[in-house]
Amino acid sequence: AGPSDSGLLSQLNPNQAAAADHFTGPALVIAGAGSGKTRTLIYRIAHLTQHYGVQPDQVLAVTFTNKAAAEMRERASHLIKGANGLWMSTFHSAGVRILRAYGEYIGLKRGFVIYDDDDQLDIIKEVMGNVPGIGPDTNPRVIRGILDRSKSNLLTPADLERGAERYISGLPREAAAEVFRRYEARKKAQNAIDFGDLITETVRLFQEVPGVLSRVQDRAVFIHVDEYQDTNKAQYELTRLLASRDRNLLVVGDPDQSIYKFRGADIQNILDFQKDYPDAKVYRLEHNYRSSASVLDLANKLIEKNTERLEKTLLPIKERGHAVYFHRANDHRAEGDFVAEWVTRMHHEGKKFSEMAVLYRTNAQSRSIEESLRRGGIAAKIVGGVGFYDRREIRDMLSYARLSINPSDDVALRRIIGRPKRGIGDTAIQKLSEWARINNMSLLSACARAEEILDRGAQKAVEFASLMEAFATAAENYTPGSFLRFAIESSGYLDLLRQEGQEGAVRVENLEELVNAAEEWQQEHEGGTIADFLDEAALLSSVDDARTRRENNGVPEDSVTLMTMHNAKGLEFPVVFIVGAEEGLLPSKNSLNEPGGIEEERRLFYVGITRAMERLFLTAAQNRMQYGKTNAAEDSRFLEELMGGFETVDQYGQVQEYRQKTWRDFRPSGSGGSHTPAPSAVKHTSPLTGELSYRGGEKVRHPKFGEGQVLAVSGVGDKQEVSVHFASAGLKKLLVKFANLTRV
Ligand code: ATP
Ligand code: MG
Repeated sequence: AGPSDSGLLSQLNPNQAAAADHFTGPALVIAGAGSGKTRTLIYRIAHLTQHYGVQPDQVLAVTFTNKAAAEMRERASHLIKGANGLWMSTFHSAGVRILRAYGEYIGLKRGFVIYDDDDQLDIIKEVMGNVPGIGPDTNPRVIRGILDRSKSNLLTPADLERGAERYISGLPREAAAEVFRRYEARKKAQNAIDFGDLITETVRLFQEVPGVLSRVQDRAVFIHVDEYQDTNKAQYELTRLLASRDRNLLVVGDPDQSIYKFRGADIQNILDFQKDYPDAKVYRLEHNYRSSASVLDLANKLIEKNTERLEKTLLPIKERGHAVYFHRANDHRAEGDFVAEWVTRMHHEGKKFSEMAVLYRTNAQSRSIEESLRRGGIAAKIVGGVGFYDRREIRDMLSYARLSINPSDDVALRRIIGRPKRGIGDTAIQKLSEWARINNMSLLSACARAEEILDRGAQKAVEFASLMEAFATAAENYTPGSFLRFAIESSGYLDLLRQEGQEGAVRVENLEELVNAAEEWQQEHEGGTIADFLDEAALLSSVDDARTRRENNGVPEDSVTLMTMHNAKGLEFPVVFIVGAEEGLLPSKNSLNEPGGIEEERRLFYVGITRAMERLFLTAAQNRMQYGKTNAAEDSRFLEELMGGFETVDQYGQVQEYRQKTWRDFRPSGSGGSHTPAPSAVKHTSPLTGELSYRGGEKVRHPKFGEGQVLAVSGVGDKQEVSVHFASAGLKKLLVKFANLTRV
């Protein structure tokens, strides 16, 4: 039987339509990048409601990032009546929602707060001190890694004690288990849960209280999971429990795009789907609608090198289009300039900046790219990295809010009791903590009763406690925006910043932006409380729109996107640059020692390549600065695997012969590499030729190349360079000083 008609299915190809027409029972859509998996998932939901009469409020769709969830809601709203009722979220926000509603059944107290990575570290540092077997030189981050991985795998402290060596990073089992136990106890006493708990506690809730599971199942009769290849054990179990009653589970994914193993993702989940659900229907999509054939060929060529994989067909719909370009730059700066130049050129050819993205392996690489773009006068927005909600003043203010709604939040209290200074010293805080621990009370209650505990300075602590009481009342009665405004002023924080001069002024602006954020959020969430807003702020993942908007406060709409390949998953851009195709970066240094590490890096590169719709540029540097030292860099081994799939170009786009560059070929920069002479090798003998400042867009004439248009200008004085596009000769980068240009 062919797919039934609802008008919607005609916008899909036959395989996609068959998957979108899947009604009840388990189903697996397994297909390569850009084959329309996400599109099919959304159309399936629309088709369920329009053709099969499913109510929107019986539908759950889980995606990987907040951004993806928001995009899904947006697309669904165009296709579906009553789309508001759809439950579309990440695993983590689904967990928050369920635990807020039913957490009390497993002993979570109302108003619990969500601890982020840094809060976790604070507790770990506090509890690890006197655990036998944990030396003072143990890095608390290593412990955090152990805890996170354990939770991803639904392991308890007892499991660690019994074995599970591969999770404990070389610590003695007992020590790992003990620190885990103490961490959990501490967190519980503070009425907090961490990110991992959002999933594991929901699983526990479902296991221990079947009545709750059944309530949630009524709300999630048709369940969808996008990017299923990156689910971890805990998320897998959550999905399994949810789907256990009605068994209407449709998952989509691509094993070749599994890139979160380091966070506990298990590719086996998607590979075993048919074992878990023997009656599952399997749909395969075999056409790629996203990328030009030359981009897709490159992607296929790369991923075929992986040995542990499921063979798939992925054929292009689009023409070959432009060749993929590879450029090897002298150093990271020249690499950035190459990107800036081609961004300018693409823009000149009619692409919007927002249609272009620069992808890298590590956040640290963004700096040189950003600088080059800035020199070229190109606006860029960075997704991820140290973000708005990680800034000190924002975290401080949110800690005030947290303590206001949860008096047991000792982590928040410790953070803010000295900001601004209130004359409560370290010794006093230590005594208060000691008392609180012995009496099993919160630090804030200890402050309130400081007169019984401290010999000196008790008054200050009591004052602080009564200030926080006023805050608690405000939190209950004010809207989030008003509360934050009240807190910023009444805490004394604003005065503190005003004394900090220039830097303080920037922080004040950020706090104002926080109030804006809360007020905007209020408009979208009528009746939302400050507690709800805190949940939201805690959940904002690095790829979230709202967060990106805050981080890039003041960046114009039309700007180039900079992000890691991890963050780019599921997205697409007409023009993509992948920078740093070097050994030690891509594949990363750490991956070399991990079993399966190289294959995971290859998948990551595959994800990066397949984001490109029309044009793809790969770059590598021959010299890269790391930890303040410039070292010779070697081309990524992946480039050799891709040989023949791209064209090597110089900085002007002239095609050259590709020759693998290894460290053996390396000559120190300055002595002039065998390929491109470093700009610094040019001797500056003639005197400065006066003010020569060009601007993008200006028309100029060159004695040999004729008339052209300035696209970008970089450097100053003697070293000023212009990128000019000549009708006769294409793009040229010229030193102004020697170019003999005249204005037209
Ligand atoms: P990824 O693996 O990267 O998540 P995906 O399989 O989810 O990719 P989509 O993002 O759903 O792929 O689709 C890729 C692009 O192809 C989108 O722009 C989508 O709109 C387009 N596309 C997919 N199928 C069709 C179709 N049948 N007709 C027109 N465009 C399509
Ligand atoms: Mg997708």
